[in-house]
Amino acid sequence: MEDEWQIAVVAGPPGAARDAAIRRLGAPGGDVRPLEVYGYLTAPTGSLVVGELSGDLADGYSKVSMLLSLGHRVLIVTEFDPGRLLSRFRGWPATAVVVGPVHTAPVLGGPVQASPIDDGLEAIGEGTYYDDGWAGRRNTPIPVVRVASIAVADGAGRTVTGSLAPGLPFLVRVGIGDRRVESILPLDSPIFPSSLLPPDSAGWWLRAVLSRGVDTITEGALFLPRTGEGFSCPCTPGDPHLCTQGDRSFWLDLAAVAPRRPEPQQWQLALLHGATTVQIFEITLNGPAPAARAIYTLTKEFDDLGRFGGRNVSIQEGSLRDGRHYLLVNGSDGARVGSVLTDDQAGNAARLLRSTLFDRQLAGNSTLYDRQFGKSRDDYLTDLWEMARVGWTVHLGLFPDATDRDALREALTHGDGPGRIQVALAEGSRAAVPWQLVYGLPIADRAYVCPSVDEFGPGSSGTGIPDRCPHADKHDQPNGVLCPYGFWGLAHILEVPPSSARMTLAEATGESRPPTVVAARNDTLPGADWAAQRAALDLIDRACVVTTDTKSLRAALIAGADLLYLYCHGREVTGGGVALDFGKGGVLLPEDVGVWADVAPRIRWAQRRPLVVLNGCFTGVRLPETLADFASAFVQSTGAAGVLATEVVMESGLAAHVMSAFVTAWHTDRRGVGPAIRDVRWQLLARGNVMGLAYSPYCDADLRLP
Ligand SMILES: [Zn+2]
Ligand SMILES: [Zn+2]
Ligand SMILES: [Zn+2]
Repeated sequence: MEDEWQIAVVAGPPGAARDAAIRRLGAPGGDVRPLEVYGYLTAPTGSLVVGELSGDLADGYSKVSMLLSLGHRVLIVTEFDPGRLLSRFRGWPATAVVVGPVHTAPVLGGPVQASPIDDGLEAIGEGTYYDDGWAGRRNTPIPVVRVASIAVADGAGRTVTGSLAPGLPFLVRVGIGDRRVESILPLDSPIFPSSLLPPDSAGWWLRAVLSRGVDTITEGALFLPRTGEGFSCPCTPGDPHLCTQGDRSFWLDLAAVAPRRPEPQQWQLALLHGATTVQIFEITLNGPAPAARAIYTLTKEFDDLGRFGGRNVSIQEGSLRDGRHYLLVNGSDGARVGSVLTDDQAGNAARLLRSTLFDRQLAGNSTLYDRQFGKSRDDYLTDLWEMARVGWTVHLGLFPDATDRDALREALTHGDGPGRIQVALAEGSRAAVPWQLVYGLPIADRAYVCPSVDEFGPGSSGTGIPDRCPHADKHDQPNGVLCPYGFWGLAHILEVPPSSARMTLAEATGESRPPTVVAARNDTLPGADWAAQRAALDLIDRACVVTTDTKSLRAALIAGADLLYLYCHGREVTGGGVALDFGKGGVLLPEDVGVWADVAPRIRWAQRRPLVVLNGCFTGVRLPETLADFASAFVQSTGAAGVLATEVVMESGLAAHVMSAFVTAWHTDRRGVGPAIRDVRWQLLARGNVMGLAYSPYCDADLRLP
């Protein structure tokens, strides 16, 4: 019987509620089996087998996944934390449905409505504690699975399925909630039960910005309540709602004029919370029919947007089809700045910044730093000059318009603390600018040297760094200014969170302590340098697993870890790209990480999602590209929380030193990755060393250990 459920899985802790659910599902005599993968293959067709998912959740989840991958039709029933189950299994088309309390099994394939909780099930007593992950999550309301829908309509609001009338007004409609049938986004998820709650509780205002490259066409606001569907209404964003239910509509309509020319065009629609870009869609007009796809996703289901607040600016960076590259900057204060450059210009800017940084460290194969990784005051000053001049040139290239640069500087000084910058790099965009090396203050020959250069330079403590330059009042000088606060990586907290359509960006690597570490090293690298790094890793996990080949690394990673530390050589690959070289232990390419995710034993982290640190010793190699490809491979394929990688090759002793400093800031001082890296950069600067600017965090700036 193709149209019946084969297996019902009752998820929840042991107790009356679970037993009642099992009875209602009609298991003969209340018979329930422990969740077994292969036992079900022998069950007679047409009979519903009831299994339980209770104690070991991670094990239970993987068994359910296995059943689904074997083609079974699985109904998952729970009164406990359906959100977590939903996010886990909603990707399975039509063969898995998660519902709340049910009386009878719903029809397979149809939308399922959860029945209200009405049967007076015995509640689990207060203070009953199940040490199995269910505790404290009883009877969570079933959330609407909130996905974006995008539709295109004519001026009268009729859905357009063919081509647009050239030069006439039309509407791009966007809404958040259950997927709408009119949506032109690909159908990648089944429809789930919705509970449209009265949207009078607190929620979030989102800005929807429609643009073509850097030309903003129009924008509007959507309100997203904490639960339930989003809506647009006539109220002022940020103010309390004065609207009635009748004033609200699912769709936010963004009016635009259809292109007059017949060739296909790509437009972008970004959803922002404050200054944080949450999702970007590319909409293709003038094709056979309007089409859309997500090109950047921080959170798939729009839960808990509050954590994405506090950014000052968001930079959308992406490639256009014609080989050009766009930057669109949105400030939390509403400032908007955009520029278009060719992919070559963007690539050249990135290479110029990297090679200038590279030359600070190495001459041939020998380091220019002393044994304490320091430089003299004069050499440090020269380094700052060289880098500031190049960083300013790149800044000018990226933002050629002077009023844009003013707006950007202004947006970055809003609020307390160091300015926060999110870079949303669209999927498929190749040229990643190392933003930490961009210098945002004007500088020319004979520029004024800000007192901060020495106050925080060689011989200083490297701690207690102010959020803003304490001498900023002196920055306005005829020839500009040299100041460490000119570098974005020293002045600001930067994050380049990778897009993932499958999982929401991690804010912690795991939920339970103690944290775990898995490391891999190339055992031909200097032992003394390794010992220093190992000592740093031991601060997090004394039982840190260290492997020296890619095969045992893969085996060690199946269960996940909080930190995955890779210490190896970097090697250029013929045909482009970078490989991590473990000597006799093998080579790791970004594509290999994809294989880990797809081929048994699959690595798809859900509980412990590591920060992957690529601390390569790339001595003597000038890499043509960054390790950014590994960031998307580890995050998108295996579900890592993020990647910390270097923009240029690092001498191994210095790399070890940076790692110790980072672990101290991240683990011991409990800083997020972004603030921790900023701390490390200033600590190195106090030795006259600028190489802290080599590290790029491809993760949430607030990412923490459990
Ligand atoms: Zn309203
Ligand atoms: Zn200054
Ligand atoms: Zn090396």
